[in-house]
Amino acid sequence: MRAARLYGRHDVRIEEVPTPVPGPGEVLVRVRAVAICPSDWRLYEDGHAGGVVPDHPIIQGHEFSGDVVAHGPGVDGPPIGARVAVEPSWHCGHCDSCQRGLTHLCRNQVFPSFPQRDGALAEYIACPAYACCVLPEGIPYVHGALAEPLTVGLHALRLAAPRPDEQVIILGAGMVGLSVLMCARAMGLPKIALVEPVQGRRQRAAALGADPAVPTAEDLRAEALEGDVIFECAGEGAAVEQALSLARPSGRVVVVGIP
Ligand SMILES: [Zn+2]
Ligand SMILES: [Zn+2]
Repeated sequence: MRAARLYGRHDVRIEEVPTPVPGPGEVLVRVRAVAICPSDWRLYEDGHAGGVVPDHPIIQGHEFSGDVVAHGPGVDGPPIGARVAVEPSWHCGHCDSCQRGLTHLCRNQVFPSFPQRDGALAEYIACPAYACCVLPEGIPYVHGALAEPLTVGLHALRLAAPRPDEQVIILGAGMVGLSVLMCARAMGLPKIALVEPVQGRRQRAAALGADPAVPTAEDLRAEALEGDVIFECAGEGAAVEQALSLARPSGRVVVVGIP
């Protein structure tokens, strides 16, 4: 199959590599759409991910969707031909976190596209069958690829569980900030302010219902606007302190971005 392999900083090559063979409990997915995560971009820009340098060329991409085309041993679903989005956090099932039901915090987590496991910027990828979510009719592959960042926003909202009378503030209108915003709107939360310095992103947030959507935290302070729940989605250390400074007494801060 063809795959995009990262050899180092700013060095991606389209190459012919062996098509993966699905192992026990795995399915083979023909990839149809991949979203580029900031973590992919950072690995491309910096040549490492949080200090981890791949020791061999790696296939990036972990936000993806596609078609199930083959089953490994012991797999009875999703059926061949199913359109699926794939959750990219693969758990071991036997560590203490997994035993407590916290599979997303598995101590032996495997994450495709993060060294040392290949990701989805290829024609095919083998994935655990349990990680596949069948896409409803009418949901395009591109939206399926964005299911992972969307659920990051949903998880953050569930952690903080804002009430309708509470003021929500979102810092950052990248994919995750917008996910928090869209999920909050879908939950019927009426009071959502957002801080985003980049104009185009800010306009997108305003169009999706952030009010006000302002360039700096100072603009919120000027309106004496404090948050009951603050979502830090900028992924910068300074934004965490900013989030704390915007919280009213008894406010909750959810650090969603990875500083
Ligand atoms: Zn990601
Ligand atoms: Zn585990």
